[in-house]
Amino acid sequence: MSQVNVIGAGLAGCEAAYALANRGIKVKLFEQKPENYSEAHHMETFAELVCSNSLRSDMLHNGVGLLKAEMRKLGSLIMETAEETKVPAGGALAVDRELFSKRVTDKIMAHENIEVIHQEVCHIAEDEYTVIASGPLTSSKLVEELKRITGEEYLYFYDAAAPIVTKESLDMDKVFFGDRYDRGDGDYINCSMNRDEYEAFYEALISAEVVPLKEFEKEVVFEGCMPLETMAKRGRETLLFGPLKPVGLKPQGAEREPYAVVQLRQDNKEASLYNIVGFQTHLKFGEQKRVFSMIPGLENAEFVRYGVMHRNTFINSPKLLNCRYGLKSNPYIFFAGQITGVEGYIESASSGLLCGIYLARKLNGKEVVELDSATAIGALSRYVSNGTVAQFQPMNINFGIMDDLGYRIKAKKSQRNMMKSEKSLALIEEYIEKGYNL
Ligand SMILES: Cc1cc2nc3c(=O)[nH]c(=O)nc-3n(C[C@H](O)[C@H](O)[C@H](O)COP(=O)(O)OP(=O)(O)OC[C@H]3O[C@@H](n4cnc5c(N)ncnc54)[C@H](O)[C@@H]3O)c2cc1C
Repeated sequence: MSQVNVIGAGLAGCEAAYALANRGIKVKLFEQKPENYSEAHHMETFAELVCSNSLRSDMLHNGVGLLKAEMRKLGSLIMETAEETKVPAGGALAVDRELFSKRVTDKIMAHENIEVIHQEVCHIAEDEYTVIASGPLTSSKLVEELKRITGEEYLYFYDAAAPIVTKESLDMDKVFFGDRYDRGDGDYINCSMNRDEYEAFYEALISAEVVPLKEFEKEVVFEGCMPLETMAKRGRETLLFGPLKPVGLKPQGAEREPYAVVQLRQDNKEASLYNIVGFQTHLKFGEQKRVFSMIPGLENAEFVRYGVMHRNTFINSPKLLNCRYGLKSNPYIFFAGQITGVEGYIESASSGLLCGIYLARKLNGKEVVELDSATAIGALSRYVSNGTVAQFQPMNINFGIMDDLGYRIKAKKSQRNMMKSEKSLALIEEYIEKGYNL
């Protein structure tokens, strides 16, 4: 009988172990707790939610709502247990974190195909099937080992990302395409500000609420990658010489350069997503929406990812992984969870689930059909393993990384999203008919 080592009993590791074990694969699940705790983990039990107890929206016109619906259909342990331990949270799914973690642990411990080993893994056997799901706060000894396996230049320790918005949510009448000094093919989308608009934006930015840093995050200093609000506090005009520099950027037909310009850079091959250049920030998510929506053209922007700056160990998946979450250079090694560059509790669990399903089918000698980007769970696996992504940053699920409907339709965005969800769930049903949930 085949055997797989799974490293880390977090959201991704538990999901992968359970998916494998339910398909008849023997699993050795390694977890460093309770001997070793990361700076953010405190419970002895598995699948610990280290921060919020919310698993986010449950609505199907929302990307994460769709991802959850797909996972439920595919037999997700995390979804099943969340349902059993949920607490009232309006349109969102939130859980009693202790009960949730305990129930997941009980199910894992009771599984006849799973052996739990409480041990910090420091070495990976490269000829044994292994799923590495050690999370964003992977222990330092394992980090050293990962450097050996992936190459040091392919391992990142900090996530300093600017917000990403969908192109379709921008007010294109207010923005202009162009590169600084016309050096390029007009690749950037530029948002001009006059003096009054800049002043209002500036005041809102420097007084906006920021996320308090955890003790272990304070040591990380980034010259050249400073939070936008910190830079702004250095002086009223500092941003005009930094990310809001207008020099060399003039809308067609304009006599003068604007007072300030915010630039948006294409973020995916399909040009459906754009990041706000230089806007890495510690602002709270709600504050980012409020303050950045003051930028002309971004009034109704849909943020598919907010800016973050936190410790986060992740690999350069577009270079290293295939869409089965397998290491291209070694057929025995797989990665799952936040360490692959998916972002969020549900996204992490979904990668563990899909990785487990694919690997179990392979080991059981069954056909493996890779889910495409018309489904949320497939789109995420393809996004992180998409070799054309140049500047890789972790990504939440969103409709922007999923396939278009394939036909033109005049409908509100939420209706189009619902149609994408219906299409995706129908595809998952087809997948299930082929036995992929088993
Ligand atoms: C401080 C912080 C707050 C976050 N808050 C949120 C939030 O509110 N909402 C959200 O959606 N996402 C949040 N995230 C992002 C992410 O969703 C979570 O980190 C999520 O838990 C990732 O799941 P995972 O399974 O990849 O890793 P984890 O859940 O962290 O699981 C990894 C497991 O591996 C174990 N491990 C590590 N190294 C070893 C080793 N060498 N040997 C054996 N075991 C090992 C760990 O003890 C842990 O149990 C946060 C991340 C961080 C760091």
